[in-house]
Amino acid sequence: MEITNNSNCGCSINGCNNRDMALNYWDGKRYCAEHYEILLCGELEMLWRKWEEGDPPNRLRYLIGRYHTEFDRNYDGEHFLTQAIVRDRSFNWEKTKYGAIFTVMRQPLKKGLVYDTWRFDILKMSFTFLRQRKGEEVA
Ligand SMILES: [Zn+2]
Repeated sequence: MEITNNSNCGCSINGCNNRDMALNYWDGKRYCAEHYEILLCGELEMLWRKWEEGDPPNRLRYLIGRYHTEFDRNYDGEHFLTQAIVRDRSFNWEKTKYGAIFTVMRQPLKKGLVYDTWRFDILKMSFTFLRQRKGEEVA
């Protein structure tokens, strides 16, 4: 992919005429939705490959949260993730063969502290809610 610097309103990839533009910028430039997703997933996958164990680097957490927010917004009314939750309140990360399992801390109204465990699948780029535990069960 050759990136151009022209500042018209189209995609920054040279020769791309896709008019379906991404909602957000990548590295300060505008892209069509397709190229934007390729760039986001490309860096995410590169960082995931480098990550060996323990909590992943902040940039990887940020990109996983960003991907979820922008492309995989499955909100079932109770179990959900946001970009900030993945970036700032996730822990117990475990790298799996094709992704990761991680837990986030949330404090929904009337429920007290809860810990939600999620599986991220890097092949399908999908998120699956696994289980929820209440704060007192975790202490
Ligand atoms: Zn494009």
